[in-house]
Amino acid sequence: MAQHHDVIVVGAGFTGLSAAAMLAERGFDVAVLEAQMRVGGRAEAHTLADGARVDKGGQFVCDDMTNVMALIRRYGKTLVQTPVEGAFVVQPEIDAPDRAYAESRSLRLRMRALDPRDPAIGGMSVADWLAAQPVSTDAAKAFRSTVEGLWCRPIGELPLWYLVSNDRRITNRQSEIEYFVGETIHSLAEDMAAGLDGRVLTGRPVTRISARAERVQVQAGDLLFSARHVLVAVPPVAASRIGFEPDLPAALRRALSVWKSGAVIKALVRYPRPFWRQRGLSGMVSWLDPSGLFACDVSREGLGAALVVFVGGPLAIAAQAMPPAALEEMILAKLATALGETARTATAIAVRDWTGDAWSGGGYSDTVCDLRAQDAEDVLRAGAGRIRFACSELSPSYPGYIEGAIVAGRVAAEEIMAAVGQDAL
Ligand SMILES: Cc1cc2nc3c(=O)[nH]c(=O)nc-3n(C[C@H](O)[C@H](O)[C@H](O)COP(=O)(O)OP(=O)(O)OC[C@H]3O[C@@H](n4cnc5c(N)ncnc54)[C@H](O)[C@@H]3O)c2cc1C
Repeated sequence: MAQHHDVIVVGAGFTGLSAAAMLAERGFDVAVLEAQMRVGGRAEAHTLADGARVDKGGQFVCDDMTNVMALIRRYGKTLVQTPVEGAFVVQPEIDAPDRAYAESRSLRLRMRALDPRDPAIGGMSVADWLAAQPVSTDAAKAFRSTVEGLWCRPIGELPLWYLVSNDRRITNRQSEIEYFVGETIHSLAEDMAAGLDGRVLTGRPVTRISARAERVQVQAGDLLFSARHVLVAVPPVAASRIGFEPDLPAALRRALSVWKSGAVIKALVRYPRPFWRQRGLSGMVSWLDPSGLFACDVSREGLGAALVVFVGGPLAIAAQAMPPAALEEMILAKLATALGETARTATAIAVRDWTGDAWSGGGYSDTVCDLRAQDAEDVLRAGAGRIRFACSELSPSYPGYIEGAIVAGRVAAEEIMAAVGQDAL
């Protein structure tokens, strides 16, 4: 026998939780089916040996991200300002790092000014475009490292129009690593799930969604659910693994097939003290080579001195072939070159490799990797009748961020409420 609800939300990441919270507040009978035994999706926390809780996935926020900031306040979380005082290090050392980064930022602005719908850039990758730009080699390397670090795919695979459209929606003026949450941002997802009062069912991977005349049936393990509307709040690659009956329309199937998951490894490296500060360094390091590598200071009360290191894009893909000890050694060696030999004296290193993650794909976000698939996001947002798709990737603002997930979830909830209003007419 199927359990009946008004709306079923598949996935308890920030998108699914935000959509469900809004629907529940407006009196809808909503159930959230989550594959994993925990909520939060790409926001995940771990307890270290001494009891400190740390975010191993999504972590940073800034004042411009108004929706997540409002939730952080509403749930009484502690905001910690990311320590940034001191010099920023660029690796390997180059002659004029400030000039290279300023040039790279202007390049990014020039790219954003392109029209993503312009047919002239339709079949062009970011690498094609970059090769044609009149910039210094160091600025081109800085640009490439930033893009591969943030979008977590090699620039040769990223469509130029996709990056333009995506980057235009990331509008923060404050640094995106302005703050993090002392209790972990994952605890915010847990609080939101708790506020849903038993409506979130974990350990329920959805394998099949079947559209019937007035209802949709959702198979999760040995349980069958039915609802008037279903919101698939999972990243596109994860959505493409769900079986749909009848098959989704061809355009929608194609729109789901053009995404690839990013690749990212996040490492927390702890030290007896923040030794970099004694040398006037902020602990923030950006590597031009290897591309996509970045570190910053996340020291705080209760955790002590610590750096977080992001290994993104091609380097994370290459790191798949490394034994864990070799990866840790590589991270410590890079930090030692950038911040001094004391970096080798880490007291602990905790690595979370997201690459190929079973439920979330692998990176901050999935990205479209088909140079001609300009309509993929619109087709997915339109959904198929009673089945809708939402995730941070499809957000009108801050795609690829927690803020984007919250916005995407709320937009989808509004659309479902409007559709229910139509049903009632
Ligand atoms: C290492 C890392 C660092 C990051 N850092 C930041 C940061 O500092 N700041 C920031 O704003 N963002 C950051 N992000 C990105 C941010 O975490 C994501 O954009 C956001 O959490 C995505 O939310 P979502 O709900 O759209 O998707 P997800 O969080 O992926 O949620 C989808 C949920 O659906 C579930 N699911 C998948 N398939 C099924 C199925 N078939 N049935 C049932 N459930 C299913 C998954 O288990 C998951 O819980 C980071 C991400 C990573 C991986």
